[in-house]
Amino acid sequence: MRTQNLGYPRIGIKRELKKASESFWVGKATQAELLETAAQIRLKNWQTQKEAGIDLIPSNDFSLYDQVLDMSLMLGAIPARYQALQNDELGLYFAMARGVQKDGIDISAMEMTKWFDTNYHYIVPEFVKDQQFRYFLKKAINQFSEAKSAGIVTKPVFIGPVTYLLSGKEKETGFNRIDLLDKLLPVYVEVLKELSVAGAEWIQLDEPFLVMDLNADEQIAYQKAYQFIRNALPKQKFIIATYFEDLDENTKLAVSLPVDCLHIDLVRAPQQLNSFLENPSFRKSDKILSLGVVDGRNVWKNDFTKSLNTIVKATKVLGKEKVWIAPSCSLLHAPCDLDLEKDEETLPAEIKNWLAFAKQKLSEVVTLAKLSDSTTNKKYLSQLTENQLAIEQRKVSAKIHKPHVGERVKSLHDTDFNRLNDFEVRQETQAKALKLPAFPTTTIGSFPQTTEIRQLRARLKKGELTEETYNQLIESEIEKSVRWQEELGIDVLVHGEFERNDMVEYFGEKLSGYVFTQNGWVQSYGSRCVKPPIIYGDIERPEAMTVKWSALAQSKTNKLMKGMLTGPVTILQWSFVRDDQPRSETAFQIGLAIRDEVQALEKAGIKVIQIDEPAIREGLPLRKSKWDEYLRWAVNAFRLSASGVNDETQIHTHMCYSEFNDIIEHIAAMDADVITIETSRSQMELLKAFADFKYPNEIGPGVYDIHSPRIPSTEEMVILLEKALEVIPARNIWVNPDCGLKTRGWHETDEALKNMIAAARFIRKSV
Ligand code: GLN
Ligand code: ZN
Repeated sequence: MRTQNLGYPRIGIKRELKKASESFWVGKATQAELLETAAQIRLKNWQTQKEAGIDLIPSNDFSLYDQVLDMSLMLGAIPARYQALQNDELGLYFAMARGVQKDGIDISAMEMTKWFDTNYHYIVPEFVKDQQFRYFLKKAINQFSEAKSAGIVTKPVFIGPVTYLLSGKEKETGFNRIDLLDKLLPVYVEVLKELSVAGAEWIQLDEPFLVMDLNADEQIAYQKAYQFIRNALPKQKFIIATYFEDLDENTKLAVSLPVDCLHIDLVRAPQQLNSFLENPSFRKSDKILSLGVVDGRNVWKNDFTKSLNTIVKATKVLGKEKVWIAPSCSLLHAPCDLDLEKDEETLPAEIKNWLAFAKQKLSEVVTLAKLSDSTTNKKYLSQLTENQLAIEQRKVSAKIHKPHVGERVKSLHDTDFNRLNDFEVRQETQAKALKLPAFPTTTIGSFPQTTEIRQLRARLKKGELTEETYNQLIESEIEKSVRWQEELGIDVLVHGEFERNDMVEYFGEKLSGYVFTQNGWVQSYGSRCVKPPIIYGDIERPEAMTVKWSALAQSKTNKLMKGMLTGPVTILQWSFVRDDQPRSETAFQIGLAIRDEVQALEKAGIKVIQIDEPAIREGLPLRKSKWDEYLRWAVNAFRLSASGVNDETQIHTHMCYSEFNDIIEHIAAMDADVITIETSRSQMELLKAFADFKYPNEIGPGVYDIHSPRIPSTEEMVILLEKALEVIPARNIWVNPDCGLKTRGWHETDEALKNMIAAARFIRKSV
């Protein structure tokens, strides 16, 4: 039985790519050095997969920033504003990703958004009405050749044409991006032919949009696209990879496409196996079914017994030749290697034994294939026994289950989810209590996480700093930032989150039921990586988590100090979550812990409390039919966390990278007194949903993009605020950046905020 892998993490096991890119961006490393690091990572990845025994090893899954951006460059879909940079390929590439402001050039970055329901962000392709495509970036063929000269004939991986178009956005009216298919396909064919000629036996086209609700045009596009490709390359073997959901009513469509193998995600949607096995045309065809049985998005050890049952079921119907074994999706979403975890204190051996990261998942795939084959299975039986033992131990471990936590969730009452009074009443009460000016200014929480700050935490961890010295140093950072914010003239201050490594990990470390890794990094966007903590058991808050710092910061100023928390859905969404109980149950457990913290902050004299929920939207099920159920518990988990306070206490929430149109009523149902949102990259476009809905509560539409180092001018922020004023009542508008400032430097932050305050003052006068 054959095995394949769909994609492998490309950041390097020690985040080498991050370090190399960031050095290159600040001019500390040369282009050659960056490219050399990238080549080493690719080679290592291919070798790792070969050593694990994977049959079909991917190439072109590597990217310097993002695989969708790579596709845009490959297909020559380069927005006109980057025209001047065409001769410097890498400069162009990073300009599209990050914007560029140098030597008199000032071009904004392309939009970024979440890849399906993952925490991975991609660069959104931009399309215009007379969009032209041409074969531009030669990355796929180059990397195919690179692997070949290292002795590995790889399977090139691309985003398929329909998914590529659907992932993009029309930048003009008067056309639909799916209509660009006819122009796009010849370029795809040109690329695919080149790889075919170069010796690629299999080519993988990722079409995750096949698991989404598709309209008639989109369904036709699928048929057209794959027929076109088939006609142009009659002998080439193609895989269509789907993942993250059930193909459901698109099963028939997928089965009808003229390709040689279909990959399906049996972790997210195990039930869909039957629809394939029972589909007469699938059974009759020569198509291979690639079973995604090993979870590519979570960290738990595969349950071999369960997977083997699935595999046996499939082979009984299809025969061994027509069944492949694979991870459920690209391993991009999993940390690299569990073997790097050596710290018993953060990750006890008992729990480590329940886990598998990307490298281990490769072995799981191979072992499952060997166990399914009667000629090889004997040699692997001890691995089966070991696996069964680990799975059993996890089920019964006393580390996981704390009955009183479950009890507290069960005994929740309606009143626990509601504030004392409605928003109109609270708004009046808060206006009197807080005495804020019109267009109040604030920031989203974090300030630059400089190397020095990160080193403080590292030195504390290593024991090089005492707790006491560390606390003093953090306190002095807070002190400095308070003075600086007062000088800037900000109305609602923040303490700067200097003590936090990450907005989820920080809370994870304070809550029980969590374990941590040293190297479990996963790419979030570009060079940014996150290290999601792992929820393995029932969640509790043994003691206050943020009160000390927030109260200390408040004590240093007469202005309002905002308390900063991460919301239950985001904590859930950005952690690796246990798969042995419903996500909603875990969300409520976290909601209760945050509620206790909100009440403790209020008690400590904090009058404004922000509960960040940037991840609410990304948790949305991919299928609309499942939205309501999710939104009900997600919004309730937030309300549970926010509703334990008095009317005077102002609850903020923050969200970024979200389209709000289709979930606006649920965002309103969260009933935060103030919501700050990311809007600047889309020129306030995202605000329209709030306006159309007549969103009643207060809103801070971000007036500048914090993901780019460029400094926004006062004028451009005034223009954005004027746009906001057209659709939102003046009384409800706040002025703030798009998101937290931790990835920025101090100089640009200072300049940008000065301009922002000037913009707020200008607007106050002119309205
Ligand atoms: N309070 C967080 C910060 O400022 C919010 C980050 C986010 O929304 N992703 O960093
Ligand atoms: Zn944000």
